[in-house]
Amino acid sequence: MDRSDAQGLEDQILKDAPRLSLASRFRFACHPGISCFNACCGDVNIVLTPYDVLRLRRRLGLGSQDFLATHTLLPFAKTQTLPIPLLKMREDAKKSCPFVGPEGCTVYEDRPWPCRVYPVGVASSHTVSRPGEEFYFILDEPQCHGHKEEREWSVGDWFRDQCVEQYHEFGDLMKEVTLHPRLTSGKPLEPKQIELYFMATYELDRFRRFVFESRFLDCYEVARDYADKLRSDDEELLRFGFTWLRFALFGEHTMQVKPEVLEAKRAELAARQ
Ligand code: SF4
Ligand code: SF4
Repeated sequence: MDRSDAQGLEDQILKDAPRLSLASRFRFACHPGISCFNACCGDVNIVLTPYDVLRLRRRLGLGSQDFLATHTLLPFAKTQTLPIPLLKMREDAKKSCPFVGPEGCTVYEDRPWPCRVYPVGVASSHTVSRPGEEFYFILDEPQCHGHKEEREWSVGDWFRDQCVEQYHEFGDLMKEVTLHPRLTSGKPLEPKQIELYFMATYELDRFRRFVFESRFLDCYEVARDYADKLRSDDEELLRFGFTWLRFALFGEHTMQVKPEVLEAKRAELAARQ
């Protein structure tokens, strides 16, 4: 499915699919004995969130940039406001996922969010992604026989079973950036700002070097204990990245610049006048 097909499918779902809540129920089970086992792990577009990349590259023992170079594609269409990596499939006849094996998913505990929530979809149009406006839908694809199984779930129970809580926490933090009014009102970021976005979300090793090996900590108020935590805690560094991006890209008051830095800036501006 190419990207325009995917957009068409999303538009169709937003228009036609029954809108489910967390309490809505559906039948589904997926297990190694099912006739379609592994059939869904090839020739698919799997969009990776920053938290997906964090979990997968840690699982594989790779640095963030090595993971991105080895396992992702980065198509960037003119209509996109921000880059979104896709998981790169193998170049075999089935275009298999690099992580599928005879026993199933070899990165199961760290599988990306789309694999985790399938067959539930979350409506992601800009018009319905504000808190409280999301809805869910079922992707009932003919090749997936899981829908014929007896097991019944509510959408909320399915999410709990698939351990998506932390994925959703990071999804909400991401929306504060990607659905910021500046972007949804059609004002694109400059190339340099897009690079900062990608560094602070997907290239966490590079972001850590930026925080600790530049003048970053001389410029911003960051408590010493918290800075120590950022040295080794990937999840906290990603949270911090989103906080800093809201300041750096949109001028929100999410970071505090040190008074002496502000004073020096004021003096520099005054000297220029
Ligand atoms: S990451 Fe795992 S579940 Fe997702 S497509 Fe690959 S093998 Fe399948
Ligand atoms: S096609 Fe559906 S039931 Fe079959 S392995 Fe994939 S998710 Fe499970």
